Amino acid sequence: MNLVFLGPPGAGKGTMASRLAEEMGIPHISTGDMFRAAMARGTELGLKAKAIMEAGDLVPDELTIAMVRERLDEPDARNGYILDGFPRTIPQAEALDGFATIDRAVRFELAEDQLVRRLSGRRVHKPSGRIYHVDFSPPKEPGKDDATGEPLIQRDDDKEDAIRNRLKVYHEQTAPLVSYYEKKGMLTTIDASPRPDAVYEALKKALE
Ligand code: AMP
Repeated sequence: MNLVFLGPPGAGKGTMASRLAEEMGIPHISTGDMFRAAMARGTELGLKAKAIMEAGDLVPDELTIAMVRERLDEPDARNGYILDGFPRTIPQAEALDGFATIDRAVRFELAEDQLVRRLSGRRVHKPSGRIYHVDFSPPKEPGKDDATGEPLIQRDDDKEDAIRNRLKVYHEQTAPLVSYYEKKGMLTTIDASPRPDAVYEALKKALE
């Protein structure tokens, strides 16, 4: 199954995508993670993306589309995948339709004040991508990854100014994708406000 996960930053797309991908044995393809990995490696793409991402703006469509197109050509994507954070603009969605067949777009819905709370409390273990929240999903020891004991970080774009900008960018550029997929009869909406296990159950039920 080829899935697109849509929704504002902080709705829990990444957490749900990584869990479902693991259960289904298909890759979780997060464009945000791919850009962060490129930044960490110091590649040309990473250098181009760095300042844009830190401000919470979008990386240009042509770069993003080319990166995803290449990724979907990898052998592990042949039996399905979950796209998390892509497409994020109408031109990206149109380009995707040209090189992939998407089965469903799942939209995670959450009120704005909840998004801000979730993003500002988010902490990440960078090497593994494991995600915590200072209140809702705290690590056993504050500031440390449960499995390795290594330090957790706060993403630069999870700081307040960048959060506000990311939400604005979402409303202006990404929210129109909801009706894009709705018109195609491909949209499933999930209430992302309950606790993660309940959201996950609702997600699985919706995809049955
Ligand atoms: P995320 O981890 O999905 O919140 O993405 C982090 C940042 O990566 C975004 O704020 C953008 O700067 C960039 N990014 C991720 N996916 C895309 C995309 N599909 N198009 C443009 N920029 C993206």
